[in-house]
Amino acid sequence: MNRSKRLLRAGVLAGLLLAGAAARAAEPPLPDRDPHSYANPAQLRVTQVALDLSVDFKRKRLSGTSELQIAHVDPAARELLLDTRDLSIERVETSSDGKTWSKAAFQLAARDRVLGSKLSIAVPADAQRVRIRYTTAPQASALQWLTPAQTAGKRQPYLFTQSQAIHARSWIPLQDTPLVRMPYSARIRAPKNLRAVMSAEMHEQPAADGAWEFVMPQPIPSYLIALAVGDIAFRSTGERTGVYAEPSLLDRAAYEFAETEKTMELEEQLYGPYRWGRYDLLILPPSFPYGGMENPRLTFATPTVITGDRKLVSLVTHELSHSWSGNLVTNATWSDFWLNEGFTTYLTNRLNEAQYGLEFADMERVLGLQDLRDSEEQAEPADRVLVRATPAADPDEVFSSIPYERGALFLTWLESLYGRPAFDRFLRGWFDEHAFKSASTAQFLAYLDEHLIAQDRSKASAAQIDAWLHAPQIPAFAVLPRSDAFTQVESQRAAWLGGALATSALPTSGWAVQQWQHFLDTMPASVTPAQLQALDAQYGLSKTPNAIIASSWFRAAIAGGDQAVWPAAAQYLQHVGRMRLLGPIYRAWIATPDGRVYAQQTYAQARAGYHPIAAASVQRLFDERP
Ligand SMILES: [Zn+2]
Repeated sequence: MNRSKRLLRAGVLAGLLLAGAAARAAEPPLPDRDPHSYANPAQLRVTQVALDLSVDFKRKRLSGTSELQIAHVDPAARELLLDTRDLSIERVETSSDGKTWSKAAFQLAARDRVLGSKLSIAVPADAQRVRIRYTTAPQASALQWLTPAQTAGKRQPYLFTQSQAIHARSWIPLQDTPLVRMPYSARIRAPKNLRAVMSAEMHEQPAADGAWEFVMPQPIPSYLIALAVGDIAFRSTGERTGVYAEPSLLDRAAYEFAETEKTMELEEQLYGPYRWGRYDLLILPPSFPYGGMENPRLTFATPTVITGDRKLVSLVTHELSHSWSGNLVTNATWSDFWLNEGFTTYLTNRLNEAQYGLEFADMERVLGLQDLRDSEEQAEPADRVLVRATPAADPDEVFSSIPYERGALFLTWLESLYGRPAFDRFLRGWFDEHAFKSASTAQFLAYLDEHLIAQDRSKASAAQIDAWLHAPQIPAFAVLPRSDAFTQVESQRAAWLGGALATSALPTSGWAVQQWQHFLDTMPASVTPAQLQALDAQYGLSKTPNAIIASSWFRAAIAGGDQAVWPAAAQYLQHVGRMRLLGPIYRAWIATPDGRVYAQQTYAQARAGYHPIAAASVQRLFDERP
């Protein structure tokens, strides 16, 4: 963005801030359209979804119907626009009463690389429902079909969805935009002996006809509709909490996440009641592309955080926190993504502090800051901001730590200015007043002005807030975290690198996972391959069962020129599909010509085991540089 635009934006903001005390600034309306959706909710809006789908593992497809209830927001509108990607649409019908159906004319537009195909449906004035019979494609971008060999149990296949950001359209024809919220229900027919679970109220047993039935009574955006099918068992861990996992993982998962109920209670004290009924976790096979996905009532989580010491549970704290920021109050479009992730990162830090103490919380904060600095270095200049001047072509392409970590630093800065009690009241008010609604950055700024800045306008200037949103780096006045535990690790590492401390004398037995991460992630370039090999010989890092330490180790060793670790790193990349863990390793290889060739060979073998979203993210790393 150019300078004059920046000044103009700052001026508008200043006006907004100065409008202040006298006139109660109404929140601006939400936009009518989402740049990442073809939907026209300002004319015809989907108000409910009912799915009836069969799961066919052999042909890797879902088939059945999606029945949409619609509201005629503009009574003159006759064309319902839906999002689809790679769906075969077999038949479309409309009904005014849900009993008699008539065939409707429809048109499926040519496929756009990012947005998919617009589905236009002719809708009579009295139509209340639209029913679409369809089949998904084997390459549907939301779906990963795992062979038995890719699961823990090795005997049954497994299917899971990842709808965020704009992948729901690859398995459901609907208005795939967070501007539109709706309750949903589903009937899922799965092969016998397999269980279907969804982000909804569930039953222990399927219905008499064998279908699994689900109801999500609260209105949610499409990206939170989620399904998994596999050899899945359940174990309760608290009054409202439990874990679903493959049977062989159940004991370890239940132990690792036994404290989730306690986290919920602490969070309710700070931010108000948990409004979704139950909170369960689904532990997925290791190819799950994210750490976790906050599907309501049923967080989908990577097994890579199960370490036996409960040291990586802040991932669950993060997903649980989305029950307030993200699921309850939802980013209006993907340009407002920081409202989901920056808030959730801030909440997670606060919960870490309340549950595990300041030292632990500060370690996590500093790791986040390191992620942010890495992301700023790697991102294109236009993507280094919290809120972009123009929407990204593809939300997945600009996914980085920036909305998470800079967003959290923005809120931390506000907290430091107005004090924790006032800021906690402010946040709770934001959640309460926007519960089950979608919200834009402009709405947040208006709310911020009225409910926090107005308390003392001398504390925060419009230019400062503009810098948080639109400057390409962390503002100089940010309040940055520090960790004494990490400072100690740094001085021990310096002594080791300088030869004053033997490899065996590093006091690693007292290190938390986070200290290992810091030790490896910020390894100076001066480290030699011989030093790295001594480290591996002493601590067996190439063989560690801890997937987080393994990722940090392989990245550090490859970047430090230690080719001896390459085969072990390639092995690791065959069975872990979590993007955050595999991306840094590929990136370290791609930085050198030999490494690049080796990375390509590794990717060629590992690719079939990755979720389509993860495969695309690795492909982008190769495409970035010639
Ligand atoms: Zn998140």
